[in-house]
Amino acid sequence: MKKNPLDFVRPNILALEPYSTARDEFKGGDISVWLDANESPYPSGLNRYPDPHQKKLKQAIARLKGVAENRIFIGGAGSDEAIDLVYRIFCRPGVDNAISITPTYGVYEVSADINDVELRKVALGEGYSLPVDDLLAAADRNSKVMWICSPNNPTGNAFAPEDIICLLDGFDGMVVVDEAYVDFSPYLSLLNVLDAYPNLIVMQTFSKAWGMASLRMGLAFASPEISELFARVKYPYNVNGPTQEELLRRIASTDIAPEVGEIVGERMRLASALSAMPKVRNVHHSDANFLLVEVSDADAMYDYLIGHGVIVRNRNRVNGCKGCLRFTVGTPAENDKVISLVEKF
Ligand SMILES: *Cc1c(COP(=O)(O)O)cnc(C)c1O
Repeated sequence: MKKNPLDFVRPNILALEPYSTARDEFKGGDISVWLDANESPYPSGLNRYPDPHQKKLKQAIARLKGVAENRIFIGGAGSDEAIDLVYRIFCRPGVDNAISITPTYGVYEVSADINDVELRKVALGEGYSLPVDDLLAAADRNSKVMWICSPNNPTGNAFAPEDIICLLDGFDGMVVVDEAYVDFSPYLSLLNVLDAYPNLIVMQTFSKAWGMASLRMGLAFASPEISELFARVKYPYNVNGPTQEELLRRIASTDIAPEVGEIVGERMRLASALSAMPKVRNVHHSDANFLLVEVSDADAMYDYLIGHGVIVRNRNRVNGCKGCLRFTVGTPAENDKVISLVEKF
């Protein structure tokens, strides 16, 4: 029998009495004089504390994503904040462990190290496929969290939702699916099965397809019980006022991430142009807004591109990515420049 996800939570977090802000204790009423929070009374545009629960923003995001408001956590330091909270909620330092694929997004490991949590890294299979059996075999009774980044960074490929569902069924712990690049992928978001899997956490971000990396706005979706734990553990005012207002303004006017079609089209064009070049050994399949490209001399090409004013990500020393550079898809003109530079290399 599978456990209730609340059984995976650290006991001190389950028992936590969260900090109560001045605005938490205020239950509504017709107030015109605000003397409860030691704010400056002089309007500067920024003198009042923001809504610690981000109610308006959650309503807008609920509408945008088709997910109930009580299943949403908003991180004001991007998805990275949600990743850290997952460790703090579920993993007892020095005792519990987490499991991830490798290669994958580096923050899962840094955050594990910060929280003194062992991260068990399971190599992707042939063609960067999801190693479902190996992932399940890596778990023991102290395994609380499994990280699945899909589409995966830096490999670029997305995993079939059926395979991720095997992990949700087979792993007695929380499965976190990081969907930072889902807008560029042909697969549907796992948000579709959030109701059916209380051990699922889905992460998304406004940093990539939505073009707002500077805002630092990350999202985590989970059961109401788990979302409530995120709300308890987060810093009280974790999303600042101007950021809340700016995002509300931007998503009020559109429901879809801009320019996704254009970027996907450019990804395909860039992939086929690069594939044809003699110094390119392999352009890995991508469902994201970047391409992992194996070249004949990655370090030399990296330096050469920098010498011509173009920076890409050198993944040559990442396990499983030997000889690879990661190219973010740019504008058509930027991609043209990359194509002609690689051609001349
Ligand atoms: C870019 C990225 C994120 C987004 O991080 P933010 O902190 O929200 O900017 C999350 N996960 C992966 C795998 C990423 O590549």
